[in-house]
Formats: sequence, structure tokens, C-alpha cells
Amino acid sequence: MQTIRNDEPERSTAMPVVALCGGIGGAKLALGLYHILESDALFLILNTGDDFEHLGLHISPDIDTVAYTLAGKNNPKTGWGRRDDTWNFMKALAELGGETWFSLGDGDLAIHVERTRRLKAGESLSQITDDISRAFGISAHLLPMTDDPLRTVIETEEGALPFQDYFVRKQSKPAVKKIAFEGADTALPSAAVMNALQLPDLRAVVICPSNPFLSIDPILAVAGIRRALTDCSAPVIAVSPIIGGQAVKGPTAKIMSEFSMLSTARAIADYYGELLDGFVFDNTDEAEASGSPLPYLVTQTLMESLEDRKQLAHDVLTFADTLNARPAKAGVAGPQ
Ligand code: GDP
Repeated sequence: MQTIRNDEPERSTAMPVVALCGGIGGAKLALGLYHILESDALFLILNTGDDFEHLGLHISPDIDTVAYTLAGKNNPKTGWGRRDDTWNFMKALAELGGETWFSLGDGDLAIHVERTRRLKAGESLSQITDDISRAFGISAHLLPMTDDPLRTVIETEEGALPFQDYFVRKQSKPAVKKIAFEGADTALPSAAVMNALQLPDLRAVVICPSNPFLSIDPILAVAGIRRALTDCSAPVIAVSPIIGGQAVKGPTAKIMSEFSMLSTARAIADYYGELLDGFVFDNTDEAEASGSPLPYLVTQTLMESLEDRKQLAHDVLTFADTLNARPAKAGVAGPQ
């Protein structure tokens, strides 16, 4: 075990880092972290609340987006699906009058078919995800938040909608009244998730700029994960998914206003509340940051290029290192 010394200016890139991650927004920072850390130092806890059965297949959209992104197989135009995929299956399905509201590329189908086959044979989602990421040559640890069913259900003005009906079929248009996580009372975190959060030399836990309500809350709803974050030896830092009062993409700001929240980065920090040891604001929100009761970093958080992703990952970890030296957490991880 590596000993953390409080006076170390820069910590080793071999020290483990955990990140909580949804799909597209989260995968951007996950890729940055993956690039700057040593091969197997990154542990990604992935949202499975969006998982669903479609055309008889078990689809795990966030796991797949992260796996494709880290493997360099992602479609950079859509953010989801595989690069250079073809669409013969969807065309043939449309000819038959089948359900075409959820697009599945020909190459993308393979992951869903193989996952479904193995789940039906009794294997765990964790084992299957690990094997898929190794097959893709990914050295980071991709950890589904749970192997148990936990499904995000959006209660809207039009009634309760399964997540993909709300997000894809209805394009997040119905106003959200409440978000429920079916199965959260019985879902348990996988052993690998708990082990990652209990690593004694953990450098940081990063909450990626994912949708807090749709991508991070389902992870926090799994029994034991919130507590493990509070108890872990490393600082927990969230990167704002709101820049200048707006979401870069997706319904985060819209849901905030539907929940009568101000759509500001500060409101996101307040929403995560005591879970956090630090918060990362975008340069645009510097004025807002200065009143923050929480330790904070102001930097460029908009990730357009790979360089942006790596730079933000570096900034977040450097910020985490300053927090590591604070007595509350340093007491746990500091020199014996
Ligand atoms: P997911 O929740 O991780 O599946 O990803 P989404 O693509 O739905 O985006 C979730 C949140 O991430 C939204 O609020 C976006 O505004 C935010 N986001 C996306 N890209 C960026 C970025 O480059 N920088 C920051 N700070 N936030 C981003």
C-alpha cells in the first residue's frame, strides 16, 4: 500500500481514483481521467438505472457509452452508439413494422445480444461488463453500480414513464414531477464497487458532469453507496454539469426549473450537499463560486477536445490533492 504524505506536492498517477458516471457527459471526463492515470488506476461506477429490455435484449446505455468512449469506438457525432456503424437491422425492422424509436446500429447490436445471452445463462452484469471492457482493451475498471435490477422511473405530467420512454421516445419533453428508483430498496452494490470505495490509498472520488437527477442519483440510491462515499478516505468532488445557468446538453437545467431550483452551478453543489468535499465551477461561473461555503476550484469545464478532457481531469485531481491535505480526510489517509 502506498502511504499518502500530506506534504506531497503532486500525487502519483498510479493512485486509484473512483469516478461516478452516467453516459455522454460523464464519459467525457472519464476519458480525460483514463488518459492521465496509469493503466488500471481508474474505477468507474456506472449508472444502470437507464437499463431496459428492448426487443428481447438487455440494453445498458450508460455502460455501453463509457465502454465505447474509452475504447475509442464511440460515435463522436451522436455521443452514443458505435463509430461508423451501419443501420441495416433498423431498416429491416422498419420494413416489418417493428419498433424503431430506439436506434440500434448493426455493430452495437452485438454487445446487447452477447450481454443478454450471458445474463440469461446466469452471469452477473459486473462479470459481463468486465469481460466486454477487457475484450475492448480497456484497462480501467468499469463497475455497474449494482447487479440487481434498479430502474429509473420518471413521474411526469403525462404519468409515470420508464426512463427510455421519457428520455428517448419523448425526448425529455414531459415536465418531471418526481423521479423514482424502482428496486432501490433491495438493490445492493456489487462487491467491486464497495471495494473500490474502500481502497485505502484512494486519491479522489469524482462525480462527473452527468445529470445529477437521472445519472448520479440512481447510483446514490443503491443501499450503501452514499454511506461509502461519506466514509471513504478520499475527497469527494463534483464537477458542475451546469455552465452559465445552462446544460451543455440534455435536460439537467429543465429538470432543475421543474423542481423549482435555480439552474445554477451553486444549486447543483447545494443539491449534492454534505456528500461533497469540493466542487468545480466553470470559469463562466466565477462570480457565483466566490460565495460557495464549500472548497472550490474555478477552471474551464467545457470539454470539446481530448486536450480539454485531460486538462480538466488533471485540474480536478490537483484540486483533490489540496483537499486530501485537509485534516478531516487526511486523518484517515495520512501517514501512520
Ligand atoms: P450523462 O448524464 O452523463 O448521461 O450525460 P448527458 O450527456 O446527459 O449530460 C449530463 C450533464 O453533463 C448535462 O447537464 C450537461 O450539461 C453536462 N455536460 C455535458 N458535457 C459537458 C462538458 O463538457 N462540461 C461540463 N461541465 N458539463 C457537461
